[in-house]
Amino acid sequence: MSIPSPVYDPPFNITRASHVVLTVRDLAASRRFYTDVIGLAVSAEEGDALYLRGLEEACHHSLVLKRTSGQPICERVGFRVFTEDDLVKAHAYYAAAGLRATFVDVPHQGRTLHVTDPFGTPLEFCASMEVMPRLLTQFHLHKGGRAHRLDHFQILLPDVQGACAFYMKQGFRLSEYVVTEHAETIVAAFLQRKGNPHDLVLFNQAGPRIHHFAFTTVDAHTLLHVCDVAGNLGYGLAVERGPGRHGPGHAQYVYFRDPDGHRIELFTTHYQIMDIENAPVRWDPNHPLRKQIWGLPAQRAWVEEGTCFPGVDVRPPLVQEPVVTLEKFLAARG
Ligand code: FE
Repeated sequence: MSIPSPVYDPPFNITRASHVVLTVRDLAASRRFYTDVIGLAVSAEEGDALYLRGLEEACHHSLVLKRTSGQPICERVGFRVFTEDDLVKAHAYYAAAGLRATFVDVPHQGRTLHVTDPFGTPLEFCASMEVMPRLLTQFHLHKGGRAHRLDHFQILLPDVQGACAFYMKQGFRLSEYVVTEHAETIVAAFLQRKGNPHDLVLFNQAGPRIHHFAFTTVDAHTLLHVCDVAGNLGYGLAVERGPGRHGPGHAQYVYFRDPDGHRIELFTTHYQIMDIENAPVRWDPNHPLRKQIWGLPAQRAWVEEGTCFPGVDVRPPLVQEPVVTLEKFLAARG
C-alpha cells in the first residue's frame, strides 16, 4: 500500500476548516446547549437560523443551526479559501473534475461555492465572512466549555483511501493515518491545511456521514468543568465519551451529543505539523490501543453513529475493519 503524495502547490488555496451547517428540531433547546454548556457565542438569530461562533473567532459563524420539522441532518461542512480568486480557481477545478459546482448567496458570508465531493459530502467554500468582535478577553462572557474556535470535522465514509487521495490533490497534507491489519489500505486519515494535525478527518465506516465537529478549548480543567456544567444543567447523559486522550493527534478530549444527536468534541493540546520534512505518522495496526494511549475503547454508538447529509445514500464501507468497541472489550474481559 502506498500513501498519496502531497501537493505543495495546490490548484487553489484552502486555508482551514471553517464552519458546519446543521438542522435541529428545537432552536431554543439547541441555543441553550451550545451557549450554556459548550460556551459558544451567538452572532445572530434570524428567523429559523441561529449563527454561533467560538470565543476567539472574529468570523461571523462557525456553527449554523437551522430549524427543521424533519430528521436533523448536516446540510454542509465549510472550508475557507484564502481569496476570492481561489474560489474562481476552485470552481474551475471541480468543474474540470466533472463535479457540479455552483455559486450561491449565503447570509453573512462572502461569495460562496457549493460542491459535493465524489463521495457524497456536501461542501461549502468562502473566502470571507462578516467580522465580529473576538471575545477572547471578555472573560465575564465565557461559559461552560469555553469553546474557542472550530478546528476540524470528521467524516465517516466507505472509501477513506480514495477520499484521502482526492483531498490531497487539493493540497491537504496527511499528518497521521491508520491502516488495516495487513496494511492493505488506509482506514483513518488525518488531513490538514492550517498546520496542526487536522482540518478534515476521514474514518472507515458506513457513510458519508459527519461523525463530529470539534472546537478547541483552553485547558484540561475546562474539559472536566464542562462535564460538571453539563450535569448541572441536565445534560449529564449527553457526555458521550471522555474526558480522555487520543492516540492520533494526542488531544485531550470530551464528546457530547447535542439535543438532536449531533456530536461535538471539545479538545485541547494539538501540535504544530507544517514543515516540509514532517512525514505522516503511521499508526501500528497491531498496537492494542492504537487509537488512544490510555483508557477504555469507545462505545459502539460513538464508533458507528453519525449525522446524515441530505439526500445522500449511506453505503457500507469497502473494507470491513473490525473495531474493538467498549462493549466487545468488556465482553472479552468477562
Ligand atoms: Fe476530533
